[in-house]
Amino acid sequence: MTTLRRRTFIVGGLAGASAGVLLPALANAISYPFTLGVASGEPAADGFVIWTRLAPNPLNADGLGGMPNTNTAVDWQVATDERFTAIVRTGTFTTTQASAHSVHVTLTGLEPGREYWYRFRTGGHISPVGRALTAPAVGTQPELTMLFASCSHYEEGYFTAYRRMAEEHPDLILHLGDYIYEGGATTTKVRQFAPATEISTLANYRVRHAQYKTDPDLQAAHATAPWLVVWDDHEVENNYADLVRNDSSPAGDFTARRAAAYKAYYEHMPLRSAQAPSAENMLLHRRVRWGSLATFHMLDTRQYRNDQACGDGTKVCPAADDPARSLTGTSQETWLIDGLRQKLGTWDFLGQQVFFAQRLAAADGSKSMDAWDGYTANRTRIQNAWDTNGNKGTVVLTGDVHRSWGANLMQNYGTQNRIIGTELVTTSITSGGDGNAADNSLNPTLNPHVKYFKNLRGYVKTRTTSAEMRVDYRAVDKVTVRDYPVKTVGSFVVESTNPGLQAP
Ligand code: FE
Ligand code: CA
Repeated sequence: MTTLRRRTFIVGGLAGASAGVLLPALANAISYPFTLGVASGEPAADGFVIWTRLAPNPLNADGLGGMPNTNTAVDWQVATDERFTAIVRTGTFTTTQASAHSVHVTLTGLEPGREYWYRFRTGGHISPVGRALTAPAVGTQPELTMLFASCSHYEEGYFTAYRRMAEEHPDLILHLGDYIYEGGATTTKVRQFAPATEISTLANYRVRHAQYKTDPDLQAAHATAPWLVVWDDHEVENNYADLVRNDSSPAGDFTARRAAAYKAYYEHMPLRSAQAPSAENMLLHRRVRWGSLATFHMLDTRQYRNDQACGDGTKVCPAADDPARSLTGTSQETWLIDGLRQKLGTWDFLGQQVFFAQRLAAADGSKSMDAWDGYTANRTRIQNAWDTNGNKGTVVLTGDVHRSWGANLMQNYGTQNRIIGTELVTTSITSGGDGNAADNSLNPTLNPHVKYFKNLRGYVKTRTTSAEMRVDYRAVDKVTVRDYPVKTVGSFVVESTNPGLQAP
């Protein structure tokens, strides 16, 4: 059976005309549908998710990608070699217009801790090949190369950093939010959004996601390794909180807008079908074990948060310390604390969106109300949970701020008592446009626990063993010009038994 499937795959890919005689499905020929590339995600010890979406005309304004309104079968293959001579799984997924002809296949029963390759076929067309990995088995702690990124504004630059990430051949990539931006097109940047208006309908969110996925650099990053994704605000709307819209947003039904945004997000990400949204709700926070080396606690700090205190912005705001305020919501906080107390691996990585450490913006004590500083009791409860449990290997991974930062997490930021964890903040892929290597916004007087700052575009590379995590801040000098090389602009070591940033 496996041999037969492989042969039909090859025949189908050779020539539409002759293959059409062999395969009745080819009667309804469509033009090349794999314009959005392929992706994998949600690695487990026995499998992962593989994704694609059929879209012969990805930017069609109706958001349906130029597909006819028919259920369309997509064959898929998983092999242990890049040339597909050793195929270990095959199957057929039936796409529907209701899900924008997206494909989400969850593989199980594979071997832990190894590479696989996958591809799709429909209508005589064969997709690019993607590489995925299974997580290592519990009980083992092989070295992990993990990259994390956030904030890719399509208009503000080319996705060179995504290309450089692909070239690193990591085991795993985390995306921590602002994967897309929702704004309307401008005429002053290096390229322009489709559609041209601020997106708020399902059709518009689908077109925007599809435009992103047509980018060859982003496609390369998706094809190179499995991703774990969480959203921030711009996947829906700038600085929204739960079902509270940003004050400056266009009028309309925000609940319907969030439902549309979440649905399009799911349709374009390598997520499990069990994660598909229901109306305006989508369960995105989850734990992913990487053997006994690390546990990824992927957080959602948008869907359940209380509205920003004091009208958002950077403020002196005593209400930010109200113990009733929450960034995670009660249920997610309980779930996270339970997971930290279980201490499933040497390291606990919190993959999340907004600045975790205290970060004073001025001597008057003003802080960002959109970050954890606007929800300090929630932060304290989580920190205290891992600290009192004796966990030393907690590292918070953050996006959002379009700058690279590194910080020690303190048991008490005011007195600077005791380092209890580490925070690594990735800069943006492109948001904010070209950086400025001379910018130095570190303020060691206001924030003695903050140790690193750099204003360049890029990502963070980590290599983790049971003993230590080596951290390289990777950057490109320009994103308004294509194809800059990447370089390391800052490095640290974090020890699993001794929290905080150390010189490499
Ligand atoms: Fe951003
Ligand atoms: Ca953001």
